[in-house]
Amino acid sequence: MSGVQVLGHTSDNPKITYFDADGNEQTLACALVAGCDGSRTSTRGLIPDTTVRTDHFRQYPFAWFGILAEAPPSSEELIYANHPRGFALISTRTPEVQRHYLQVDPDDSVDNWSDDRIWSELHARVDGEGAEIKDGKIFQKSILQFRSFVCEPMQHGNLFLAGDAAHTVPPTGAKGLNLAIADVYHLSKVMAEYFATRSRSGLDGYTDSVLPRVWRTQHFSWWMSSMLHRLPADTGFGHKRQVAELDMVTRSVAGRTLIAENYVGTPLEL
Ligand SMILES: Cc1cc2nc3c(=O)[nH]c(=O)nc-3n(C[C@H](O)[C@H](O)[C@H](O)COP(=O)(O)OP(=O)(O)OC[C@H]3O[C@@H](n4cnc5c(N)ncnc54)[C@H](O)[C@@H]3O)c2cc1C
Repeated sequence: MSGVQVLGHTSDNPKITYFDADGNEQTLACALVAGCDGSRTSTRGLIPDTTVRTDHFRQYPFAWFGILAEAPPSSEELIYANHPRGFALISTRTPEVQRHYLQVDPDDSVDNWSDDRIWSELHARVDGEGAEIKDGKIFQKSILQFRSFVCEPMQHGNLFLAGDAAHTVPPTGAKGLNLAIADVYHLSKVMAEYFATRSRSGLDGYTDSVLPRVWRTQHFSWWMSSMLHRLPADTGFGHKRQVAELDMVTRSVAGRTLIAENYVGTPLEL
């Protein structure tokens, strides 16, 4: 499928046109359209940006250098490390494949990182206090930029945005996919209600229903990011403050509960 276009989304009979695998143009007649086309969305652009849409955007002064490696797990648990050299994340995909991240400058390049440099930096930031990095063969390297973004409203006419098309979170809280699913869960319910009753009240309230959860998740992802990453131009105060914050959060039952509730996820129903 290619050349997907949404037409007439403010009318009662929107259409989606596209070219099929044989190059023939096809048309889908729609009642409602869900814009679930990810962060490189074209559907978001159908909400007029000067009169209707507000984009809230924040770029962070750090990025993640990510690797996939054939190696045994380094730990039974996911590890988030705040180190004076920068953040590191240790995670397991399968017993044979590990996914690790290092905080780097947003302008850094994959070409600057040999395998030896990556393992040595992971050891420096993570080894000790019960964890030890296990090296292996790196088979993928990429740099992930850090952005927070929310588009309001998440609907226009009969077009309804869901997931990364409407919002992105920095990856520290691992919430992007959860948030996308929560949107789609809610949108599917109000769409079904519309087809069953022809009442638009659920559809019309879609943005107002999902935005509080979107902003709560934005806050959690921002908070985790700012608590765990080395801040540029930090004279030492920032790191000491972060360590004190981590100490407070991990010592207190209320603090641990707050992290757990947000990390595992807020209920789909508000
Ligand atoms: C490296 C990395 C690690 C991540 N780790 C996590 C994690 O641990 N936990 C977590 O919750 N989230 C994670 N995320 C974020 C998560 O992947 C996204 O938030 C989530 O995939 C958003 O889902 P979505 O359906 O909105 O968009 P997408 O998953 O981007 O899906 C959009 C789909 O639309 C298709 N599409 C786009 N335009 C068109 C078009 N014109 N025609 C036809 N099809 C089109 C795309 O091909 C794609 O299949 C991670 C992201 C990255 C990049």
